[in-house]
Amino acid sequence: MKLMSYSLAGRETWGVVIGDGVAELATRTGHATLADFIASPDFARRDALVQGLQAEAQLTDVVYLPVITRPEKIICAVRNYMDHHQEVLAAGMQRELSEQPPIFLRVWRSQTAHQGPIIRPRVSDSLDWEGELAVVIGQGGRDISEADAWDHIAGYSCYNDASVREWQFHAKQIASGKNFESTGAFGPWMVTADEIAPGRELKLETRLNGEVVQSSHTGHMIFSVPRLIAYASTIFTLSPGDVIATGTPAGVGWSKKPPRFMQHGDVVEVEIEGIGLLRNPVVAQN
Ligand code: MG
Repeated sequence: MKLMSYSLAGRETWGVVIGDGVAELATRTGHATLADFIASPDFARRDALVQGLQAEAQLTDVVYLPVITRPEKIICAVRNYMDHHQEVLAAGMQRELSEQPPIFLRVWRSQTAHQGPIIRPRVSDSLDWEGELAVVIGQGGRDISEADAWDHIAGYSCYNDASVREWQFHAKQIASGKNFESTGAFGPWMVTADEIAPGRELKLETRLNGEVVQSSHTGHMIFSVPRLIAYASTIFTLSPGDVIATGTPAGVGWSKKPPRFMQHGDVVEVEIEGIGLLRNPVVAQN
């Protein structure tokens, strides 16, 4: 099942994708947001809730919103693909493999949706792409074991953890380059976890103006999805609708020779097998 957040006639809502359209679920279920639905007992009986529904609006007529519009936490893994680690070394950066998953946090205001603009800040010439698998947390919890972690996943989506490189490198921690408004693209929808077998290797491709710039699969992750959930939930209680962006594979722009970054007018796509295609225009900040 594909669940998405969107707005129609200026009203924020969410619903289920049916063919080329969407049926609204906010009013039918009484849950204002998709995160509220995921947090409720209704999520477990979603199949019955959507039984017999017909699409009421075409996908081409709605404005997509970030799949989870205001997650309590967006936890992002870095250095989590072996092929990316190797390209970083090849680019001349000294970096050891970590023994524990390195993470940082994004704020929800840095997000943008499928088809929404990724904004190149006026203070930067180095806006880069990072195609990633996003995990949406279902049942929350603290100290979740790796063995139990799969049961805490509501679904999966695509993320473009677009990064402002020179700001990322201002200091040893990278938060400033990872939180500019309208840089974290999230969508187009969430595919519920029952459709993706635990540990299934998913092909991930990022394209810039149609040219493939990243091509890998999630089997190259260094720290697995359960490991990331176990690690993060040791620090804080995970809540329904929290997002984990699981890191990017090889092929980011700054590791290319010469480095290549996104410009006004570019179109960037992240496509993940079994999940969907996230497409965003790049727009320069006024
Ligand atoms: Mg990233």
